[in-house]
Amino acid sequence: MLAAQLDTEKYQVTLYDKKKAVGRKFLVAGEGGLNLTFHSDLEELIAQYFPSAFMTSSLMQFTNEDLRNWLNNIEVPTFVGSSNRVFPEAGLKPIEVLNKLVEHIQSKNVKFKLDTEWTGWNKKGHLCFKDSDDVESDITIFALGGASWKVTGSDGEWAKNFEEPGINILPFRAANCAFAIEWNKNFISTHEGKPLKNIVLKYKKQSSKGELVISKFGLEGNALYALSRSIQDELLTKKSVSIKLDLKPTMTVSQIKAKYKKSKLTQVTDILKEDLNLDRTAIALLKQYSDKETFVDINLLAGIIKSVPITIAATDDIDKAISTLGAIALDEVDANFQLKKIPHSYAIGEMLDWYAPTGGYLLQGCFSMGFALAKHLNELEVE
Ligand SMILES: Cc1cc2nc3c(=O)[nH]c(=O)nc-3n(C[C@H](O)[C@H](O)[C@H](O)COP(=O)(O)OP(=O)(O)OC[C@H]3O[C@@H](n4cnc5c(N)ncnc54)[C@H](O)[C@@H]3O)c2cc1C
Repeated sequence: MLAAQLDTEKYQVTLYDKKKAVGRKFLVAGEGGLNLTFHSDLEELIAQYFPSAFMTSSLMQFTNEDLRNWLNNIEVPTFVGSSNRVFPEAGLKPIEVLNKLVEHIQSKNVKFKLDTEWTGWNKKGHLCFKDSDDVESDITIFALGGASWKVTGSDGEWAKNFEEPGINILPFRAANCAFAIEWNKNFISTHEGKPLKNIVLKYKKQSSKGELVISKFGLEGNALYALSRSIQDELLTKKSVSIKLDLKPTMTVSQIKAKYKKSKLTQVTDILKEDLNLDRTAIALLKQYSDKETFVDINLLAGIIKSVPITIAATDDIDKAISTLGAIALDEVDANFQLKKIPHSYAIGEMLDWYAPTGGYLLQGCFSMGFALAKHLNELEVE
């Protein structure tokens, strides 16, 4: 986005990437459905980012609607899917979307230098690249990504280059990731891979609506991803974290009890299935989290249905995370993303320590930062 927006009459722009092709992570994102942004009003959009004050200006300069319009102008029409997530229109593959972006950037006279890894600065402050000549640049923008899915090139190796200039790099941690749960063997052998739909997860004062998927490792899914930053923060100081799972968010405890008691059926499992519309996996989960007496007493079971107590002990491998926390501390950059310790050098995207849940917010945040920085640089008075 930055390369697409920079004024190439004013700047000679060269885009370097250590991989042989650009946008590898963008393509990986496309594998699960390329969720480009989220359709909501601006206030709601901004509220999803942490810290939201850091992202507000960029998001206001280039909103979710601006992104959709811009994509449409480069022949990437989008549609609002279920839960207000925005995707490329049916039939447009992620590689075609990426190609449209690349073609657009190329049409702006931006040079591409691929398979060229930035390794730091020489004594004169020029940029150094592996197996390539040093480069003197007037302005450098780093957009080197986080530290997950290393195969895409976003391996976080760049962080060591910033030690010498004394930039505060916070340790990388997984966000939007799976968490470990110790499942009962019988439960997991039958229910591995099964979803829990239309549930609400509660963690302290936060709650998150969506779905979960049960895996051998534990739990994953958008309802959990949305809480991942806070859970990760608690795991920094505690060995485990408790979350509560509401399997019937549309009903209160009293409504559940009343409906159960009105049932003409006699078996608990049948009543849960037929009258309370809980599926086999939800019912098996209730069995795992309640003793025999609780399971047959709706006065006790209703409380568990609304609040299954789940203990999380760890996160999955960082390389499997959808995004990462950590990297460059936000107070290392000014309001225009300029590195305070390295004038004329800027950092944007996931290499800064901000967080957003899944739902298209990550790409939207990156696009908005690229747009906002390009606008600033286009307006900058240069000698
Ligand atoms: C499985 C998965 C699914 C996802 N799905 C979505 C989704 O549907 N919607 C959404 O909004 N987000 C999604 N994301 C997140 C999103 O893809 C990222 O947040 C986003 O790509 C970050 O953009 P970026 O430009 O900061 O960095 P990246 O896209 O990671 O790009 C960084 C680039 O820098 C290059 N690089 C790194 N180091 C060097 C170096 N030293 N020299 C030269 N080049 C270097 C890398 O090769 C890479 O091309 C997903 C992520 C994953 C892993």
